[in-house]
Amino acid sequence: MSASVTATCDVCPHGCRLAEGQVGACRARGWRDGKVAPLAYGRLTSLALDPVEKKPLARWRQGGLLLSAGSYGCNLHCPFCQNHEIAQAGETDVGWRYVSPEELVSLTLDARAQHPRTVGIAHTYNEPLTSWEYVRDVGLLAHEAGLANVLVSNGCANAPVIDVLAPLVDAANIDLKGFTADYYRWCGGAQEAFDTVRACIKRLAAEPSCHLEVTCLVVPGRNDTPDEMRALSAWLAGVDPDIALHVTRYFPRWKMSGGPTPVSTVYALADVAREALPHVRVGNC
Ligand code: SF4
Repeated sequence: MSASVTATCDVCPHGCRLAEGQVGACRARGWRDGKVAPLAYGRLTSLALDPVEKKPLARWRQGGLLLSAGSYGCNLHCPFCQNHEIAQAGETDVGWRYVSPEELVSLTLDARAQHPRTVGIAHTYNEPLTSWEYVRDVGLLAHEAGLANVLVSNGCANAPVIDVLAPLVDAANIDLKGFTADYYRWCGGAQEAFDTVRACIKRLAAEPSCHLEVTCLVVPGRNDTPDEMRALSAWLAGVDPDIALHVTRYFPRWKMSGGPTPVSTVYALADVAREALPHVRVGNC
């Protein structure tokens, strides 16, 4: 009997080892022609013209619009995922249309002709880093066309991926979902997910051409203690005190039940974060 051939994906800490016909834990990458490939590359499930502020970005190109593109798949599995219909889906679970990088840039230029406040493209809704090659290829063409390339992401990709993308991303909002490895495990991350996200934030913060903001969604009973927010915001201030932190309110979605985060908790934790950071915003309140 011959041993089955496998290939390992090196994009994120899951390190999925796949054989022919298999897809990874993110459901966006899988076996193709003897290696792991971005099967969801360019397969868009969502396309909408969104305000910059909705990403959220509070200190970059205010009043601008971004053609926001989403695909399917994610390498985390947060039980509260608000986009689970696409983020936790595979290729046969959801409708998609292939949009090449050239077409996406062309659609954005069309949008700008109609809405002059359009400033670029956002990769968002599902986890863009699981098809990071699309973020790269769109970014190269977007810059040639005078458009911005924006990343909205969980930041959970290995350093070589972030190194390639950093110069091609003009603005990013990265989730820092909590400040413990246990929390990231609850969100379906691999053992190293917490460290990987922090490394991503540090790398993007160090990129001179990339504007970086960070979001923390506060889930009652999970990551809502003042001590955890104090540790998170102090660490972020150590990376760069100018980074805007969005402290946002959770609503139960997907596998979660119960009530949303009390507004008073969100405001109290934002005040804790302001002990270390001058640019703290509350969201969803
Ligand atoms: S990107 Fe997807 S396939 Fe690759 S290691 Fe992560 S979960 Fe697995």
